[in-house]
Amino acid sequence: MNKIVTIVGARPQFIKAATLSRQFKLFGIDEKIIHTGQHFDSNMSEVFFEEMEIPKPAYQLDIHGLTHGAMTGRMLEGIEDILIKEKPDGVLVYGDTNSTLAGALAASKLHIPLIHVEAGLRSYNMEMPEEINRILTDRISNILFCPTDTAVKNLEREGFDNMPIRIIKNGDVMQDAAIYYAAKAEQKSDILTKINLSKFILGTIHRQENTDSPENLRNIISGLNKINHSVPVIVPIHPRTRNILAQQNIVPEFRLIEPVGYFDMIMLLKSCELVITDSGGVQKEAFFFGKHCITLREQTEWVELVDNGFNVLVGSNSEKLGSAFEFFKTKTSDFSIDLYGKGQAAKVIAEILQKA
Ligand code: UDP
Repeated sequence: MNKIVTIVGARPQFIKAATLSRQFKLFGIDEKIIHTGQHFDSNMSEVFFEEMEIPKPAYQLDIHGLTHGAMTGRMLEGIEDILIKEKPDGVLVYGDTNSTLAGALAASKLHIPLIHVEAGLRSYNMEMPEEINRILTDRISNILFCPTDTAVKNLEREGFDNMPIRIIKNGDVMQDAAIYYAAKAEQKSDILTKINLSKFILGTIHRQENTDSPENLRNIISGLNKINHSVPVIVPIHPRTRNILAQQNIVPEFRLIEPVGYFDMIMLLKSCELVITDSGGVQKEAFFFGKHCITLREQTEWVELVDNGFNVLVGSNSEKLGSAFEFFKTKTSDFSIDLYGKGQAAKVIAEILQKA
């Protein structure tokens, strides 16, 4: 493939795209980026393009703040127009957002080969919009790049190995990003001076199953409030979660800060005692930076972290959260095991697509 159109729209996709875009350039592949606009605040989008030197999107669709159906529908229409004009050799989508699904549908209906990066992940929770997006995208893709052995097995179990498509385990492009940007983050970030805490726990909360249930959100906040009495908790808060906390009149006692850029996030991950999150990406980043993680979900797609004792799932149960916090206080782990490819994932993709 000489020309690829990449679809991005949400924060984790910018981070994934950063490493692969650099490899595309090195391999002489012409890449055009479409930004759907799903995340649009400057601290949820622009900061990543600047810091991580991601090529400027060739197209900005500016579609956000709509229901799932309206958002996906408008993106589909916008992306289709561009693909008809650009006629790429392949369309690449990342992960599991509405932008992923819209890009996948647009490409497959135009018979343009579809490449899914971060394929094969499953939570087996069909109430998660992300699960629907992943399953449908995988099903209509031509090349599936899987980050883990579990992801490959999930696809085989669903019969994908009998289909005329390619399934490749390439590792996790997010580990490439963590390794590549860690030194830059040390130089550029001043977040540790700003927060001025010698010991702290890093949290993030944004998953719909937590934010859209006032009961779940109250339980999580009350669990974090208790932990905050022993070790200060600091949470860069997702704009959606901030709005819901205000609407529900839930007042955290721990410290909320605005969403941070990736360099600041790396420094927070490197320096914290423990990570508490419902994010997919942050669970892995905790591992990349040698930290234990408590996951505020009932399931995870990153089961190898739980199987190896780095991560504990507590859902929104504040008592389980408290027990997991006590458990990790004294636990030590060796984080050197290679679960995600150790930084070579994007190179594998570029090499394969150049020959495809
Ligand atoms: N992230 C960030 N700043 C923040 C919170 C998260 O840079 O204030 C990064 C985080 O390090 C990870 C990515 O955003 O690389 C994860 O995105 P998010 O949690 O929004 O999505 P998910 O991974 O759950 O799909």
